[in-house]
Amino acid sequence: MITLLSGGTGTPKLLQGFMQLLPQEEIAVIVNTAEDIWLPHGYLSPDIDTVIYTLADIVNEETWYGIRGDSFVTHEQLLNLGFEEFMNIGDLDRATHIFRGELLKRGLSLEEATQKLCTALGVKAKVLPMSNQRLSTVVVTSRGEMNLHEYLIKHRSEPEIKQVRFEGEAEPCEACVSAIEEAEFVVIGPSNPVTSILPILSLEKLKKAVASRRESVVAVSPIVGGKPVSGPADKFLRAAGIEPTSRGVAKFYSSVAAHFVADASEEEFEVEGVEIYRTNTIMKTLEDKRELARFLIEIMR
Ligand code: GDP
Repeated sequence: MITLLSGGTGTPKLLQGFMQLLPQEEIAVIVNTAEDIWLPHGYLSPDIDTVIYTLADIVNEETWYGIRGDSFVTHEQLLNLGFEEFMNIGDLDRATHIFRGELLKRGLSLEEATQKLCTALGVKAKVLPMSNQRLSTVVVTSRGEMNLHEYLIKHRSEPEIKQVRFEGEAEPCEACVSAIEEAEFVVIGPSNPVTSILPILSLEKLKKAVASRRESVVAVSPIVGGKPVSGPADKFLRAAGIEPTSRGVAKFYSSVAAHFVADASEEEFEVEGVEIYRTNTIMKTLEDKRELARFLIEIMR
């Protein structure tokens, strides 16, 4: 089994590559839940949704959010009625949130609710929320404190970020720790290091488990040519005091990953104690995704 640490865009693309090479039963994904939020209709867990939709092959690959071909009838009617729903939530996607919210209200854990969604959608890989408890990302900006959705959508990633912090007391799911311990190797995917991977690694027990497998951990850079492939990861890296380059990210991960893959277009660099590899990491086509996954399997086996 290989285990990935994932957010909701870069790593799911890589996951599509692994899905071409391995049966889903041999894949586990530990997913960031620090962007989760209760909404009037249910419980949104955006990264879990994207990972599940990716594995079910129904993800909207234009936005890496929601379900391909979804309709927005409810969203539009809410706006007509005067309800300000700033997230563009599709009808089918909304059903996922309603179902998950009801399961949580009935006392199921997020892990159990995730398993039920996987079963319903025919997903065979292990999708593991990083924790069953709440940990929430707070973005401290020049316009005040806000959650990540408000920052990315309402404020279009414009305000200067002063600090990012995670609020809540959370323990990792036991199954996440086992998925690290039992993995043939662990992949820290090309997700936003601050908003997607750091919340996972901020869970002490989980970080310890990953660090103890350091020689079997490879991280993939989300930064190409000094810029994120998409989204505002550079702003978040700077705010967290991390140089927004592949070298900065490799250094940041060096306590947990002995292997690091940078894009082939990057200049060579060194980080003490880390083996650096270079290959194409831009995943536009399914072939790009499969080749990157194949490269990771080759260097880690
Ligand atoms: P979020 O949860 O939606 O923020 O998504 P993630 O954290 O999983 O992914 C966002 C990161 O993915 C960004 O920092 C991008 O630079 C990175 N990313 C997106 N597409 C690619 C790609 O094709 N290659 C690489 N190397 N990184 C990518």
